[in-house]
Amino acid sequence: MFEQYKKHFQEYIPRLPGAKYAHFVILRETDSYAVFKTDGELNVARVRAGINAPQVISRLVLFKRKQTTPERLTGRELLRRYEIYNHIKTQHNKDCAYNENPCGVCPDCVIYGYAVGKGGADNSGSEKSKVFIDSAYAVPKYEESHGTFTLNAPYEDGTMTQGTDTTNRFSEQDHVLPEVPFPSVVTLRDPTPNTFLYLLNNLYRTKRYGAQTTRTGQMRNKLVAIIFADGEIFSNLRLTQKIYDIIGDILPPYGLDSLKEATEQAVNELIQEDGVFYELIAKEALVSLQNEAQSLLTDEASFKQWMNLLTEETLSYAKAAGVLKEEKSENTNSSRSRRNKNKTDEGEDS
Ligand SMILES: [Zn+2]
Repeated sequence: MFEQYKKHFQEYIPRLPGAKYAHFVILRETDSYAVFKTDGELNVARVRAGINAPQVISRLVLFKRKQTTPERLTGRELLRRYEIYNHIKTQHNKDCAYNENPCGVCPDCVIYGYAVGKGGADNSGSEKSKVFIDSAYAVPKYEESHGTFTLNAPYEDGTMTQGTDTTNRFSEQDHVLPEVPFPSVVTLRDPTPNTFLYLLNNLYRTKRYGAQTTRTGQMRNKLVAIIFADGEIFSNLRLTQKIYDIIGDILPPYGLDSLKEATEQAVNELIQEDGVFYELIAKEALVSLQNEAQSLLTDEASFKQWMNLLTEETLSYAKAAGVLKEEKSENTNSSRSRRNKNKTDEGEDS
């Protein structure tokens, strides 16, 4: 899988970082009215309009957690549906509960990381996330990317009056308008072909983002480029500002092609200033990479087979990390590997 890019992948998930990064550059675009807020207000930041446009404007912000949580849940749902959690339960006697009792061995725990807080008595320590996501900023100004609506809760007959009473069940709510783009770079550290595809699949499949189930809005992720590099690259804010520099102060919604081209150009210019060795996959090369991914992801039999392979990979990682205890026959090795694990943890945490 992805033979052409072999040198950018790890053969197995390593314990220590090996300076291999896959950066997915995506345009997250609202597909309906969405609400991204904390504490009752839409999240807004005052930032410079562009890299070359110093005036300060307000922009909608899509916080990090609002991006990762739904994507993780998409993946976990599939792990459940395709019996991965059953397998882990029967073979290794481990349960996995998101944010409560992480198993430490499933693809979600190993790739996105976890911290053992409450409970999880049979787990030890924590796992750093191999997925880095930062807050994303809308390209247009706040004034052009939101609307305020009065929501009402009519009586059962659909009217706002009952007898002589008029309902006062009105509430005002700010919504993000449809087709507002939030450029975002999702980074996977030390990708293997399997973990790379896991992340990509979650990006393809997640379509609802927002606070809670009733407040979510539909959103589409459009992959514009993939950058394989030996280090970290530009931030989401710089990407948004660069796109703004290129398209200028025009009103959304933007033309699909012009936005895509502006993003490609922005990526091309920004990456050259990042001081990393990189390979940029865009346009035709990106299409063929995505076709290869799709050929696996759209056939249910190969999809299941791939999920099993991925899980074997994360189980081996958990074994090497000492999270998954050695089988009884290999008992003699277990104390040594546990000691090694502690050493590595200290190294990584410092
Ligand atoms: Zn887990």
